[in-house]
Amino acid sequence: MENLHQNTSLSDDQTKQDDARLRGPNLKARQARRAKVERKKISTDENDSKQRRSDTAHETSTTAADTKDHVFSYQEIKDAVECVICLGIPRNPVYQCDNGHILCHLCHSKVDVCPLCRVILRNTRVLAVERVLAKCPRPCEFDIFGCKINLTANEFESHERYCDYRPCRCPQFWCKKLIPIIELISHIESDHGNTFHKRKYSPSFRRELFNDVKDVMNMSRQPFYPPLLLEFDGYYFISECFRADSGNWYTWFYMAGSSEECRKYIFTIKLIHANNIEELSYTGYCTSLYDEKDKSNTLARALKFDDGIVNHFCCDNSHVAYAYQIRRSPVSECTIMDE
Ligand SMILES: [Zn+2]
Ligand SMILES: [Zn+2]
Ligand SMILES: [Zn+2]
Ligand SMILES: [Zn+2]
Repeated sequence: MENLHQNTSLSDDQTKQDDARLRGPNLKARQARRAKVERKKISTDENDSKQRRSDTAHETSTTAADTKDHVFSYQEIKDAVECVICLGIPRNPVYQCDNGHILCHLCHSKVDVCPLCRVILRNTRVLAVERVLAKCPRPCEFDIFGCKINLTANEFESHERYCDYRPCRCPQFWCKKLIPIIELISHIESDHGNTFHKRKYSPSFRRELFNDVKDVMNMSRQPFYPPLLLEFDGYYFISECFRADSGNWYTWFYMAGSSEECRKYIFTIKLIHANNIEELSYTGYCTSLYDEKDKSNTLARALKFDDGIVNHFCCDNSHVAYAYQIRRSPVSECTIMDE
């Protein structure tokens, strides 16, 4: 929520409209939105250059000496205002020490003295630099992952939250790779031997099987079932299941979204007994693929059961039936309506 409020600067109305649309985004909508941002930027550039032409014409008529506009390059602006610690182009708010050395807000929050002149830092903002940076188009933060979009400060926050190149963690439990979201499916297919099972989203419970459970319990290595991959509301959801050496089983859902986005969806996974009466279920939020993968945190948000339960729910001496459902969180819908 805090992020939404930080957004309320010049493009307040636009951001609200965008957020309203993005509450139920799909991939096509995201692409259309990105195209719109690009179109807007082109038209802004055209307007800027028209304005520049008319300014130039006006200046020509007043004084010949002032006719030469100097358009600063991104590199020149970067050199002039880069943070003395991380050497990056700062994002607003921008701070300075008493001697004028510039620090981005991230570095400013980590140090007490200016690293160049050692004076004690206060919370002195550099509003002139902030105003320049707000107008200066800069590459998306995820340019190293392939995003080619340049945006001004007012545009990038909403873009980067939904940028197709924002990197997420590979859902395969042991894979440590960071993958741009747009390449997630091709990475899964190329690096994980097409072991993921794609499923169509269904609003009601969908039934699946954990097969060969007796063999799995007799194996010495940690077996994983092929993860299920489905798309809902423009997000990918991926289920995982594995049995630890301890004889404990865990099954849960990852979501390719931020932790805040994960709060907007709920999953339920339940084991179903052959008698169709007994069930064992867990309902909760998905684990974000954008956060650092933390095994204990992930397993705390999983349906946990043990070999004894598997034996009890096992059908035909071979499989355990289970079902899952993903739905929008009623809590998040209330929060959205309150805004
Ligand atoms: Zn910095
Ligand atoms: Zn200083
Ligand atoms: Zn981007
Ligand atoms: Zn991977």
